[in-house]
Amino acid sequence: MYKKIVTLIILLIVCGCSKKDIKNNINTTIEENSNIVIGINYPITNTKLDKYINKEIEKIYNNFKEKYGNFNYLNNKSELNIDYTFTDINNYMSVALFIYIDSSKETTDYVITYFYDKKNQKLLSLKDITDDIDMLEDITDSTNLNKFTIDNDKLTLYGTNIIDIPISDLNLKININKVEKTKNVNIEIPNKVIDPTDKMVALTFDDGPSIYTEELIEYLNKEGCNATFFVLGNKVEMYADVLKKSIKYGNEIGNHSYNHKWLIKLNEESIRDQINKTQDIIKSTTGYTPKLLRPTYGSINNKIRNNTDLDIVLWNVDTLDWKYKSVKKIVSRATRNLKDGNIILMHDIHKRTIEAVKKIVPIIKEKGYTCVTISELNEVNLIREELNG
Ligand code: ZN
Repeated sequence: MYKKIVTLIILLIVCGCSKKDIKNNINTTIEENSNIVIGINYPITNTKLDKYINKEIEKIYNNFKEKYGNFNYLNNKSELNIDYTFTDINNYMSVALFIYIDSSKETTDYVITYFYDKKNQKLLSLKDITDDIDMLEDITDSTNLNKFTIDNDKLTLYGTNIIDIPISDLNLKININKVEKTKNVNIEIPNKVIDPTDKMVALTFDDGPSIYTEELIEYLNKEGCNATFFVLGNKVEMYADVLKKSIKYGNEIGNHSYNHKWLIKLNEESIRDQINKTQDIIKSTTGYTPKLLRPTYGSINNKIRNNTDLDIVLWNVDTLDWKYKSVKKIVSRATRNLKDGNIILMHDIHKRTIEAVKKIVPIIKEKGYTCVTISELNEVNLIREELNG
């Protein structure tokens, strides 16, 4: 009897801990070399579903690299982009992956979907979910029925055309309760006093937020530092709380496109779509309106300039933290030639980057610099011009 109670207590503790710690998050891979650019975002669900998704992504990534990684067709870099949608409803998860390949040889655009039953740990087909297959076949071509997503209020079929059907129009075999999204859009942005005679640098972080961002902003806050975060629109909802906290701490949020497509390759409408969708989701999720754009892969042309009112911000110190695995190297690249007004590029999607920042900030401070946001840096530059002018 004693033994049984002990086992029960241990089990309870284990279950309690793991349930609280496991959170959905997004995996981001951004890569670039002279032949290719790669931008991949997909959800990590901490269920068996990850196995299916990982296997698929790995296959696509390896095929792409094998095919295009070592060649440069007609002086054009080839691009692989994977975007996603993800809905976690009660006992089910619905995921779509949008695969986009653009090269001189081919342009491919297709969708893969998964509908996962958490309780029974298996994938479901549309037939498992609704009795209305005949009706759905009537309004669409039947090939559409293999690729679908379900969110709080609609079924979406992906075929030659994308068709949305309200959930309320369907007889469902499973129970999907609508989950209301809570949106709190009142965040107070702190007022800061900056001395324009101070030496300053701007730390900037691209491609986030990620599971590491919260630790980073807590550290910066503790050190009295602010930074600028150029976020991806498709990650904003998943990390809404972290973003709100980041804004509250006085950090600046900038726009880094919706899903990291290579903006210089897109037409004007798609460029506007990438930028505006990101502005909209940041605004509706946090109440904050970004003023800055950092174009993906740092590539800029007039098509981008002409299709946004946002200030375009690049950098003048590249830590190459996505390439170098060594914290020491990242720290050295960030701090070796420190100058007043430096804009330092990093990515808050790597654990090593957060470790590096914890070494970079003390060095910056010791050398007498304050870390400010890009808008603060711009403001200080204006004041300085006036003072000198
Ligand atoms: Zn980026």
